[in-house]
Amino acid sequence: MHIKRVELRGFKSYGEMTILDNFDRNFNAITGLNGSGKSNIFDAICFCLGLHALKSMRVTHTKDLIFKEGTGNVTEAHVSIIFDNTDKNNRPIGYEDTNEISITRSIKVNSTASRYTLNGNVSSKEKIEEMLASVRINMKNPTFIILQGRIKQVINMTPIETLGMVEEVIGTKNYEKKKADAVKT
Ligand code: ATP
Ligand code: MG
Repeated sequence: MHIKRVELRGFKSYGEMTILDNFDRNFNAITGLNGSGKSNIFDAICFCLGLHALKSMRVTHTKDLIFKEGTGNVTEAHVSIIFDNTDKNNRPIGYEDTNEISITRSIKVNSTASRYTLNGNVSSKEKIEEMLASVRINMKNPTFIILQGRIKQVINMTPIETLGMVEEVIGTKNYEKKKADAVKT
């Protein structure tokens, strides 16, 4: 499963509906001038996948995620991610028969609550987390996301810390924890 398309509306600097299409399966780079909204796209992806740490999305309040301009007439932010799910070897549990999976998260200016949909149906955050976890995307501990400010910290990691991060990304960390528990008992 990999990101195929991202749709943003009212999110940070993306007031109008913006569609980013044709993501590559292996590697994508976003280029542009300073302040043109590259990191905002990354923030939008994290937001949509259910990240709740506002600091990681570089804001203090939820409402800061909503597009702001003079008139203030944008009161909602919506981000959708459409995944290509055609790779039969890497399909989430329960989604073995579908070639596309979509997640949408929306927020309103006067509320801290989020609304999630999964394939067009209203969903809980937990259900989305569970679906992502089954393809080893752990949004509860997203160590695989290396934000602009964390690069130095990653470079300075000890070998054990690097191993921990790799284990988390490839999904074996859970087995290590289970193994340690089994040895204890
Ligand atoms: P750099 O190359 O410096 O890392 P960047 O392309 O990653 O830049 P971003 O951090 O994505 O840039 O975007 C910063 C811009 O987004 C700023 O101009 C900021 O004013 C704008 N921005 C952030 N939040 C909002 C918002 N809620 N409404 C409107 N604009 C916003
Ligand atoms: Mg940036």
